[in-house]
Amino acid sequence: MERIGHYIGGKHVPGESGRRGPVYDPSTGQQTHEVDFADTAELGQAVDAAREALPAWRATSLSKRAEIMFRIRELLDERKTDVATVLTSQHGKVLSDAMGEVQRGLENVEYATAIPHLLKGGFSEQVSTGVDVFEIRQPLGVVAGITPFNFPAMVPIWMCANAMACGNTFILKPSEKDPGAALVLAELFADAGLPDGVFNVVQGDKVAVDAILEHPDIRAVSFVGSTPIARYIYTNGTANGKRVQALGGAKNHMIVLPDADVDMVADAAVSAGYGSAGERCMAISVLTGVGKVADTVIDAIADRLPKIKVGPGLDPESEMGPLITREHRDKVASYLDSGSAQGARIVADGREHQLYKDSPGFFLAPSLMDNVTPEMDAYKDEIFGPVLSVTRAETYDQAVDLVNRNPYGNGVALFTRDGGAARRFTFEVEAGMVGINVPIPVPVAYYSFGGWKNSLFGDAHMYGPEGIRFYTRGKVVTQRWPDPAKSTVDLGFPRTR
Ligand code: NAD
Repeated sequence: MERIGHYIGGKHVPGESGRRGPVYDPSTGQQTHEVDFADTAELGQAVDAAREALPAWRATSLSKRAEIMFRIRELLDERKTDVATVLTSQHGKVLSDAMGEVQRGLENVEYATAIPHLLKGGFSEQVSTGVDVFEIRQPLGVVAGITPFNFPAMVPIWMCANAMACGNTFILKPSEKDPGAALVLAELFADAGLPDGVFNVVQGDKVAVDAILEHPDIRAVSFVGSTPIARYIYTNGTANGKRVQALGGAKNHMIVLPDADVDMVADAAVSAGYGSAGERCMAISVLTGVGKVADTVIDAIADRLPKIKVGPGLDPESEMGPLITREHRDKVASYLDSGSAQGARIVADGREHQLYKDSPGFFLAPSLMDNVTPEMDAYKDEIFGPVLSVTRAETYDQAVDLVNRNPYGNGVALFTRDGGAARRFTFEVEAGMVGINVPIPVPVAYYSFGGWKNSLFGDAHMYGPEGIRFYTRGKVVTQRWPDPAKSTVDLGFPRTR
């Protein structure tokens, strides 16, 4: 069985802890690799390598760092199919979707190429007689990223592009379910001229994560994953004095007002509900129809479902691939049973698909449930799979109230042709990312990504301007160049007037 190991100080390093986990091809259900699980000592080696690389990398000029980011950008563009293929073979998402993931990651590298501009500080001349003040932002040191299975290339790039451009050295702990893409990135960064030790990969599970949270030389931790783990990372990381941003799970609603175009709504709901088999933190999980519009929308969605081609991610005909593991697929499917038992109407059951019945792969076809209510498990839990729930609201206010009462606040979308309603919604809704007739409002790289409530712990959103701020700390310098001949003793507190 081929092994996937660590990447430390510019070298592939096989794990020595003796602990390993399986990596599957979700479309065949076969195990293809074993991934090494780091212990505390192996994480320590990565920190040593990152600490050793830090002084020279910190001192590397901004234009040189920008040049390396430009080279990474070019190589990532050239090799996007290689990255996407590895990603598809371990995650299961269809290749076109994996290419989209790489492209959205690439945007973050493009943003980081502007690092000389992004790190410009402020300068105030003559704040007092002959005194000037300037502010600079400096890197934190060694920082770490812990990432989820569902975006094995894009989410690491969300973090490391800005972190490295700011002058930090980086340790990535990817998901143990699809750890291969991280090593492809490590090799690509090295080929682009990134010095050894600036980007390191430590594979593993909770043991490696806890070692990151406890290591005194790791200054900051970026996390993306489920809400319980995000809360754990935030609580423990900050207790150990680290700066932490921890993005959690989601339950994204799409509210449909009666004036919306039904076909456009159905196209958007199907794309955003079932793309990547619903394994996106910005996937639409609940469609809330206001008034009678839900009846026509459900019919329009149901019409589209049989036409979605479910199949292996590397088959160019496939539009939706398998789920990440058999256990996860079965858990997702179980919401159809609990939903039905709790009073929902199953409009489409993905277990009726041939691939669910016959294939050893982890397939579940698009599933649709109507009359879902907030008390049901299918509403309360983040399903994270191709099961779309439909709820109904009598009024706009009821629909917004539903979203605002939900403990998650990642993304939300409103479909309408009424600009006034859209503006009011933007003002009132409690979520970090809002789409108006856009079902998956993932911000472009020059804004920042982050939810509210249980979708984010910490006060910094990820990438974009907030990412630059997260990976740096401010320093304010007050300076004067006085004439020594005029120097006096003054015990008063320094005044500006
Ligand atoms: P996960 O929380 O299970 O795992 C995320 C990371 O945490 C992995 O690296 C994993 O190894 C580690 N981990 C898992 N269990 C741990 C434990 N007990 N202690 C310490 N570390 C642990 O998440 P996942 O299943 O890989 O990813 C799916 C989840 O991520 C969904 O909830 C999804 O909404 C969320 N997500 C959120 C965003 C966002 O931006 N808010 C983006 C992508 C995914």
